[in-house]
Amino acid sequence: MSLSFIPLGVGDAFSALRYSSCLAVEAEGQVLLVDCPHPIRKMMREASLTSGVELDTDRVAGVALTHLHADHSSGLEGLGYFSFFLLKRRLTVLAHPEVSRRLWDGHLAAGMEALIARPGEPPQPKGVEDYYTLEPLSTEAPVRLGPFTVECRFTYHHVPTTALRIRAGGRCLGYSADTAFDEVLIAWLAQADLLVHETNYGVHTPYEKLAALPAELRSRMRLIHYPDDFDLEASNIEPLIQGRRYEV
Ligand SMILES: [Zn+2]
Repeated sequence: MSLSFIPLGVGDAFSALRYSSCLAVEAEGQVLLVDCPHPIRKMMREASLTSGVELDTDRVAGVALTHLHADHSSGLEGLGYFSFFLLKRRLTVLAHPEVSRRLWDGHLAAGMEALIARPGEPPQPKGVEDYYTLEPLSTEAPVRLGPFTVECRFTYHHVPTTALRIRAGGRCLGYSADTAFDEVLIAWLAQADLLVHETNYGVHTPYEKLAALPAELRSRMRLIHYPDDFDLEASNIEPLIQGRRYEV
């Protein structure tokens, strides 16, 4: 498989059945996480057991972050600390500068801005660069990380959010991230060989809108971020199953 992925979670922020939406994308033995919810190591371990694919932090080349809602980003503190203390290296985070603008001050700093080196000593100040290497994504040009080439495009969501196209080994995976229904975004994603699209209530993309798309496009589309009451059997677009491996 030149490009494959395992959904570590397929649920929404309120799910009692599934982990939050997150993909482990694989190429040439390296893994790119698409978003990073908590508890990311447990999610990787459980997906390893169901897929038979070894997945853990040592294989993670980086995280491509779509936005700062907690169901997509709440695992970054834990994975950042794991990299810092156990792997002795910084965690690479790919994100558009608008997406990552408040990553530190509005999300991570409260739990990470001070570290005690030894008991009895005062805490040492820490900054984002002590734990993370931020690689800016661009809407103008693709960005390379190991075997992966990543492009982004803004979606309609509450906070700055980007969809992604990830290329490796001559194949391309599209990911809508969180978004309202957007035909222009879908046309952008449709240039990929396989596209993963969200569906949910409220300001998200209604299933009915996706179900009305042409059959050829639906055959290359997979659903993610669906609510717990989503009827998997009745869907005319294949819903992703948590912990199963998919070839692009
Ligand atoms: Zn969101």
